Amino acid sequence: MRYPETKLPKVGTTIFTEMSQLAAEHGAINLSQGFPDFDGPLALLDRVTYYLENGANQYAPMIGVPSLRNAIAVKAERLYSCQVNVDTEVTVTSGATEALFAAISSVVTPGDEVIVFDPAYDSYEPAIELNGGKTVHLALQAPDFAIDWSQVATAMTDRTRMIVINSPHNPTGSVLSESDLDQLEALLKRTDILLLSDEVYEHICFDGEHQSMLRRPELAKRAFVVSSFGKTFHTTGWKVGYCIAPEPLTREFRKLHQYLTFCTVHPIQLALADFMNDFPEHYLELPAFYQQKRDLFCQLMAGSRFKFVPADGTYFQLMDYSGISEHSAKSDVEFARWLTSEVGVAAIPISVFYETAPEQKLVRFCFAKDDATLKRAAEKLCKI
Ligand code: PMP
Ligand code: GLN
Repeated sequence: MRYPETKLPKVGTTIFTEMSQLAAEHGAINLSQGFPDFDGPLALLDRVTYYLENGANQYAPMIGVPSLRNAIAVKAERLYSCQVNVDTEVTVTSGATEALFAAISSVVTPGDEVIVFDPAYDSYEPAIELNGGKTVHLALQAPDFAIDWSQVATAMTDRTRMIVINSPHNPTGSVLSESDLDQLEALLKRTDILLLSDEVYEHICFDGEHQSMLRRPELAKRAFVVSSFGKTFHTTGWKVGYCIAPEPLTREFRKLHQYLTFCTVHPIQLALADFMNDFPEHYLELPAFYQQKRDLFCQLMAGSRFKFVPADGTYFQLMDYSGISEHSAKSDVEFARWLTSEVGVAAIPISVFYETAPEQKLVRFCFAKDDATLKRAAEKLCKI
């Protein structure tokens, strides 16, 4: 038997799986893969139990339950002054991951170019490549990891189908400003270039408001805006997300969605809708909740030999180990492995998110953890 050639020659097992496995093997504190070590709100868990026990255990509607699509639309209006049609512009998906894959697959055709910003979340490129697209990587520069819009202008060609934006940005924690949206808007005017806006950390944006593509009609009319309830409600294991896009894009998106998964887990959708209606303060208070964790982690790490600039968004903090002379010769992959096995704290190396990684010594820590976990981890990290 000769098995087929791989369709994804550049892909192995994701760094998140690899580092979480290594953390488990060594009993290390896992600040690598991004997930909280605490549960979502009790009232939300109770609603899931309620629906599990009250018959919501068959297929949900393909596009998502009406109450959840409605709660998503209410949020878009409240936060971004954007009116979305709940029937034709909102689709509930099985995590943001499914939404990203469906969005890319619904519009990228062989030979299309898609611009991504490195370090880029690792699910974009495989989806682009599987559809015959070409990924055009533009590298963001440390320490602020801001987008150089003149570089984007140069990279745009008549084959550019899509630009993938991710703000707040994983893994760097940078966020887009209003001026970034102005520049993006100016660049895209008079083009048919689409946007895929990965906004899964929309509610984890510090010192300023999240600049959603939904705020700008000129951008929203060409955008798939993707978000995830996993990040917002501390429930990454539920894998429920959504995509907001104008009707012509949503129509194509749903053609993919109905054959990728058909629909998303039913009782959880109903519970999320109730919870969002009853407790909107949860997502409104999320920035302050995570800012306290960021500040605590940064304060604890101030006594370490790592250098860092506090993240502007997400629940990730980059740390530079170039000043730790005994270890600075290690690549970030080697350093992250060493941290996990010898120090007992797992982190994510950044170079894996680049096409061509620059000479830098950065690892990412997830601070979505109980204060006690952060204290234990920082204690170990401060001893290096
Ligand atoms: N995009 C980014 C930038 C992420 O960090 C993640 C990680 N969780 C996802 C998408 C995927 O989200 P989900 O777990 O809802 O599929
Ligand atoms: N988004 C999470 C992170 O960046 C991981 C998601 C996953 O494990 N696929 O760590």
